[in-house]
Amino acid sequence: MPDLTEGVTRFRRDVYPAKAELFAELAATHRPTTLFISCSDARVVPELITQSEPGELFVIRTAGNLVPAHTPGSDGVAASIEYAVAVLGVTDIVVCGHSACGAMTALAENHDLTAAPAVADWLRHADASRARVTAETGEREVDALVRENVRAQLANLATHPSVARALAARTLTLHGWVYDIPTGTVEELDATGRTATLVA
Ligand code: ZN
Repeated sequence: MPDLTEGVTRFRRDVYPAKAELFAELAATHRPTTLFISCSDARVVPELITQSEPGELFVIRTAGNLVPAHTPGSDGVAASIEYAVAVLGVTDIVVCGHSACGAMTALAENHDLTAAPAVADWLRHADASRARVTAETGEREVDALVRENVRAQLANLATHPSVARALAARTLTLHGWVYDIPTGTVEELDATGRTATLVA
């Protein structure tokens, strides 16, 4: 992976020195204000989209930006959510879907996932979204599903005890975003998930 090692070389040579003060501070401080949950898709880069510095975003990335609803058992996603909210005290959580999402496309177009059973199983966390999406006003089903899925994952988030407590205490705000790859625009969804306004 020569590209990556060359990248590390450039980082240490060109980037790190310019931010040495920040990294020195971050060595002993971890106080992100936002939990950013996005898809694992390589084209979605939370820090780039939001122009955030190291230390500002606590990031969880999953296939399809899915957030399983809380269950008695623990998993990596639940633990990361709890840590961000209950320990780090983030004030905002963004669930960010995106255009041309492979996970949402697979669902919308009923792709055969028998060769990827773990993916098929994981995508069941989007079952509710899929059930709610109907053919509407000319919008492509995959675009509708991307939006509905963001809304559904916000609802799933709220089932996590740490999130529910922070919402009740009004110390936490949830946001649903959709990033459009070809235009670079970001829309924020309203509570219904059907109306969106440009974030900036
Ligand atoms: Zn995706």
